[in-house]
Amino acid sequence: MKMKILIVEDEPKTAHSLKTYLEEACDAEIDCAFDGYSGKRFAQQNHYDIILTDVVLPHINGIELCRQLRELHIKVPILMLSALYQPEDKVVGLNAGADDYLSKPFDFQELVARLQALMRRANNTIIAQNKLTFADLTIDLSSLEVWRNNTKIILTPKEFALLEFLVRNPNRVIPKAEILESVWGLNEDINTNVVEVYVNYIRNKVDKNFDQKLIHTHFGIGYILKNKN
Ligand code: CA
Repeated sequence: MKMKILIVEDEPKTAHSLKTYLEEACDAEIDCAFDGYSGKRFAQQNHYDIILTDVVLPHINGIELCRQLRELHIKVPILMLSALYQPEDKVVGLNAGADDYLSKPFDFQELVARLQALMRRANNTIIAQNKLTFADLTIDLSSLEVWRNNTKIILTPKEFALLEFLVRNPNRVIPKAEILESVWGLNEDINTNVVEVYVNYIRNKVDKNFDQKLIHTHFGIGYILKNKN
């Protein structure tokens, strides 16, 4: 089945280029709404896999649109796009129920990668109130606390960042070089030993004392977060 995406964007040129690109890149079926009010109506009347919304929109802005959709218990993943790149807008957007946020101008390839990550997360990882949940693991992005069931796990900031990255990318073998680049911001000609060392650290804290292991080694490549062996 084709993926269905709703784009809420009042600027016709941007809406058109997004639609054209995503139809091609994601083989998706796309609807466009040109203001917040019709975006809301579209979202109520159709089932979408993802909603992509601008922040500054006529009638209802993107943040208000997110809030209203969540109030209606419409749980579709929402990615916000905005030319405003003040960090507080990002926080307001995420608090209103958006799942991710991308500043304009953005790179189309990055947009597609984010959309795919959102799809994976929607299928496997639940995000609510700034918390990411995978199996019995919960990581709180506000308080930076990590829990498995009722057991609190203390991680260092770097360990937390690594675990957050894994939880945002579940059920996929992630090469060590990609982990290094995403979590440490280093490129792949630098030794990936640090990834192995840190994966061992978080394994000792997150998996060691629990029957169900979540972090698995894919020999020769990297690691995968998954719920079954
Ligand atoms: Ca706009």
